[in-house]
Amino acid sequence: MSRNAESTAFRSALEVIRAVEPRVADAIGAELTDQRESLKLIASENYASPATLLAMGNWFSDKYAEGTVGRRFYAGCQNVDTVEALAAEHARELFGAAHAYVQPHSGIDANLVAFWAVLADRVESPALKKAQVRQVNDLTEADWFALRRELGNQRMLGMSLDAGGHLTHGFRPNISGKMFDQRSYGTDPATGLIDYDRVAEAAREFKPLILVGGYSAYPRKVNFRILREIADSVGATFMVDMAHFAGLVAGKVFTGDFDPVPHAHIVTTTTHKSLRGPRGGMVLCQPELADQVDRGCPMVLGGPLPHVMAAKAVALAEARRPDFADYAQRIVDNAQALAEGLLRRGAKLVTGGTDNHLVLIDVSGYGLTGRQAEQALLDSGIVTNRNSVPQDPNGAWYTSGIRIGTPALTTRGLGTAEMDQTAELIHTVLTQTTAGANADGTASKAKYNLDPDLADKIARQATDLLAPHPLYPAIDLA
Ligand SMILES: *Cc1c(COP(=O)(O)O)cnc(C)c1O
Repeated sequence: MSRNAESTAFRSALEVIRAVEPRVADAIGAELTDQRESLKLIASENYASPATLLAMGNWFSDKYAEGTVGRRFYAGCQNVDTVEALAAEHARELFGAAHAYVQPHSGIDANLVAFWAVLADRVESPALKKAQVRQVNDLTEADWFALRRELGNQRMLGMSLDAGGHLTHGFRPNISGKMFDQRSYGTDPATGLIDYDRVAEAAREFKPLILVGGYSAYPRKVNFRILREIADSVGATFMVDMAHFAGLVAGKVFTGDFDPVPHAHIVTTTTHKSLRGPRGGMVLCQPELADQVDRGCPMVLGGPLPHVMAAKAVALAEARRPDFADYAQRIVDNAQALAEGLLRRGAKLVTGGTDNHLVLIDVSGYGLTGRQAEQALLDSGIVTNRNSVPQDPNGAWYTSGIRIGTPALTTRGLGTAEMDQTAELIHTVLTQTTAGANADGTASKAKYNLDPDLADKIARQATDLLAPHPLYPAIDLA
């Protein structure tokens, strides 16, 4: 394929859009410029390939396809069947999974499908059996009422939000926290690491139906073999949410005890983070949960997004190529180079480093809140996000941490030398930023002072760092 084809495809697409609503075409073009010019260190973002992006922009978007491959509630789904079956096959092969369900629209949807598949398997099915009926519609009013109460009275043990867990793992404002009686495990205050003995103790005391592993802001490997043993010891179903690190599993950086797929009963993921696919979700599971997982619609979902399933098939095919393993290794090499660069300059890092794609800086070491640090870095052309650190004194809004990740910059081709320069830029901004004061003289958690000339200078240096690694080099919209 000529590189010219990519340019022509996107240019033509914008021309077609511009004829209807030019402001949308302009915004799409402006977004490319922004993404090209900023040093993107958001740990959950990436840059999908042109093939993945183009697979989404077409008439598959128009199709309803409730059901599963070959068993649809709508006619005319043969082409959707083709792409859904392909995406699932690539997912099974890539991750060595017995079963893959590629319909979830996002990570949160994948988790809801997984939670309800487990509830259906472990709570609903036994109730149906006991009542000697085949499906819930056949239950008496009294049995249905009792089952609903039981479904709503189950326990989940997951990682706490401030230790790096995700809000879908039982955080009260999220539906998962309202569905389940949740308890969380944290990390050891001294080391910042998961203390498996404490997790085992919590599991013994609490006896959860589901033990959840996985995280959004924990910079270390997790031993999924040990978590599975803990789950087994209390009869819990072991679920892993690998939304953040699926790319490292796909690229065989996480193997053995650190690969969740052979150890978990059920694994959920997003497809757009380190996996570098379209925005979406996916569930992998052991054979005994497959039927329940495939009932994601009507359990949780309506119609799938066939255009996104097509893009999942493309991205998963890309992830099966040998160069994806090389990409995954470079993500970790880069994160470690960034961590070392920051440590050498005196930054304080949660757990003292990283063995995955992300680094969590405790910015209290610079006398700043996460909010102040995030804004000062943004002024300097460096895009990150603030994040709680364990036992965060500033809460989930202001926070004391900055989370940075390397999947996106690694896609652009930046390497370890550039990570050291990135560490220098970040450290310079954070040392030159000071906390601001409120009008009454008290310390502000949001206001900060940073010389705008310095911010401009850093932003130019960030752009220089990116210049040798153009984003979507084949695409020229001019
Ligand atoms: C990002 C993330 C999700 C949610 O994914 P969305 O696609 O934004 O819904 C769920 N779980 C974890 C661990 C995540 O990091």
